[in-house]
Amino acid sequence: MQTVQTLIKTALFFIPITALSISNIWAADRFASVEVKAQMISDSVLMLTGSGGNIGVSIGPDGTLIIDDQFAPLAEKIQAALVTLGGDRPRLILNTHFHGDHTGSNPNFGSSGAIIAHDNVRVRLANQDNFAPSGLPVITFADQLTIHFNGDELAVIHLPNGHTDGDSVVWFKQANVMHMGDHFFNGAFPYIDIGSGGSVAGVIRNLEQVIQMVPADIQIIPGHGPMASVADLSTSLATIKKTQKIIQQGQQSGLSDSEIEAELSAYASWGKGFINTSRWINIIKSDMEQNVSR
Ligand SMILES: [Zn+2]
Repeated sequence: MQTVQTLIKTALFFIPITALSISNIWAADRFASVEVKAQMISDSVLMLTGSGGNIGVSIGPDGTLIIDDQFAPLAEKIQAALVTLGGDRPRLILNTHFHGDHTGSNPNFGSSGAIIAHDNVRVRLANQDNFAPSGLPVITFADQLTIHFNGDELAVIHLPNGHTDGDSVVWFKQANVMHMGDHFFNGAFPYIDIGSGGSVAGVIRNLEQVIQMVPADIQIIPGHGPMASVADLSTSLATIKKTQKIIQQGQQSGLSDSEIEAELSAYASWGKGFINTSRWINIIKSDMEQNVSR
């Protein structure tokens, strides 16, 4: 008969191995079936989709440039897609912000190309446990940077304290295309990372600024969701403002979360993505607690 101590030791020995194996199998399965697909946006700019944030691509005489790089297990599939499209190992890798679904393949691509991002992206990646040094940005900036590549001029513009505290948009002036990063979830409630310097008021202010700044016919690569127009971006902004107001008013008049969710029923289709309506309510509530003065 086993003693209690033996049982505990046996349990301690097996539980971590089992948990680790299951999580590895889950991770392998999760990415094994992912297909990286390309969509032409202009003569030289493409969008790649797979799992994680949308990837912007420029391929031409100066070589290959990518904006964001999804999760680490997808690096080889992304590279294979670039080669199929006539590209090469990326010379330049831009990060719109630090989240892992946009920077996971940095260690792979950073071993042969230069990673460029806002100052705070490097700080936040460097603070993560076990983040490979080859995945850190080697060129960082505070406000704005211009890149001359493949006959285009790319304005990389920092948007302060919106989705996080280190976001940028990338504007291809010639091709008339902008990669918005996670300031834009096309057709869905956005994730706003309040714990990493993000704020709802910041997202609203930044989106208003972008809409003022860009040509009305620009094509927009959102952080998540299908290709978009300025009208789609305006709809997203209006939805954020209207739903924020409904949630704030519900909260102030003492409604429960489920009562607030009922008030948002007209926006139910916006809660079908990564951020469902209940998570959106929580984001607005934590923003109210932490960003009152912003
Ligand atoms: Zn993000």
